[in-house]
Amino acid sequence: MPAHHFIANTRVAAADGQTIPVIDPSDGREYDRIARGSPADIDQAVRAAQAAMGESFDGPWAMTCARDRGRLLAAWGHAVQEHADELAGIEARDTGKTLRTARNDVTALARYFEYYAGACDKLHGETLPYDTGTLVMTVREPHGVTGHIIPWNYPVQIFGRSVGASLAAGNACVVKPAEDASLSALYLADLAARAGFPPGALNIVTGYGQEAGAALCAHPGIRHLSFTGSTATGQQVAAAAARHHCPVVLELGGKSPQIVFEDADLDAALPAVVNAIVQNSGQTCSAGSRLLVHESLHDAFVERVAGRFRVLRAGPPSSDADLGPLVSRRQYERVRQMLDIARGEGLAEAARGRILDDAPPGGFYQEPVLFRHVPPDSALVREEIFGPVLVTQAFRDEAHALALANGTDYGLVAGVWTRDGARQLCMARHLRCGQVFINNYGAGGGVELPFGGVKSSGHGREKGFEALLGFTALKTVAIRYGHDT
Ligand code: NAD
Repeated sequence: MPAHHFIANTRVAAADGQTIPVIDPSDGREYDRIARGSPADIDQAVRAAQAAMGESFDGPWAMTCARDRGRLLAAWGHAVQEHADELAGIEARDTGKTLRTARNDVTALARYFEYYAGACDKLHGETLPYDTGTLVMTVREPHGVTGHIIPWNYPVQIFGRSVGASLAAGNACVVKPAEDASLSALYLADLAARAGFPPGALNIVTGYGQEAGAALCAHPGIRHLSFTGSTATGQQVAAAAARHHCPVVLELGGKSPQIVFEDADLDAALPAVVNAIVQNSGQTCSAGSRLLVHESLHDAFVERVAGRFRVLRAGPPSSDADLGPLVSRRQYERVRQMLDIARGEGLAEAARGRILDDAPPGGFYQEPVLFRHVPPDSALVREEIFGPVLVTQAFRDEAHALALANGTDYGLVAGVWTRDGARQLCMARHLRCGQVFINNYGAGGGVELPFGGVKSSGHGREKGFEALLGFTALKTVAIRYGHDT
């Protein structure tokens, strides 16, 4: 039986009965089917969420107090921990990521629920000075029904950060997972119902982006949209939302630099530089996909990176491979196209990993590839590849490093490796991006740390308390109780 949508705590088939295949990236074979959502399914889910909120925020979910919302999120987080192995197994098979990565993702998901469970009853307004005899206060209220469009690269993590924060703020959610990775979201929804969330607080509609996704963005009942995915789709999402005055958070792509200065701790930088591009097979929006190294040590340091690349192996999630297959044939073909472009540009390949001999035929395996001394106008420097492909460039000084680092349309993350405190501050100040990590990369994915981009990497912030604020609408209440003196 195909996996159905989840609407008002019930599994329902697509209104027109259509389904789409679920493909195992490790061998390219179909092993399940999910419902193919249509505008009618989205409408049913939005109505269920609206009923949970109530027209005047007097529905069962809107009347659930902050303390109880926190308890529900905490119970959901415990259920995730209890079912961590099963959830990681589902995620690894659906996306191709290694079991190790899937387990880390599930740990992060539980941590999101834990963090936002504790934050529900710390979300409050302020009192403001105004005329004598008038008390002015601000109240943080939910938007109402929020829409969440989730990509396939970190399905459970992105579900956790987006849905966790929205429910904590008191919204009801309609989620459209990626067509390539929907099974974990459905499993999580079942856990939510068992944890005690009332019908309609959480709804999942699976399907294609151009169908179910577009219908969600266009639905006038959606009062806030959270989108993570490609820059091109983000533009369509924002345009559709604008037609019904719906605020949008866009988490888009990146082309993030790792900048290694001559005074860096190279032994610390090396594994972080390699991990930042090969983790999740390079399918990470914050992947460190450009390596900028001071010219005095560029060739020597890149040779050390090359040594690491040569021993990396791609293979199925069930093996001990360093990286899994790419998520889909479409993504595999995109990466291969970029490698063809590299060949056409005559780029110098410095190293390549390998694919395990016993990896099943038909899987979407891509070994890591390293190109060095790549010119700034190369497509591989400017465009997001979303695969395990790293390009290097040499820089002369701080100004040159900044020019290269800031020289793409993206602005998501930057990593800086230097022991010089003044230089650390200078780089933190002038890098045009949403996160700067100095002498580390990604800060271990801390759920407390606001995350998001500038320029084509998007706007708005997910994660941390900042995201919780974004999922609220601020109401000002002025109470006249006396006269001016
Ligand atoms: P995508 O943007 O097409 O898909 C992301 C999500 O958006 C999916 O759930 C998809 O169904 C949905 N979607 C697609 N078209 C839609 C539409 N018109 N309206 C509403 N929703 C729609 O991304 P993709 O093509 O699957 O991935 C390709 C690229 O996306 C990658 O190369 C990478 O650049 C980027 N990406 C970024 C992130 C990130 O975390 N920032 C994550 C995944 C993918």
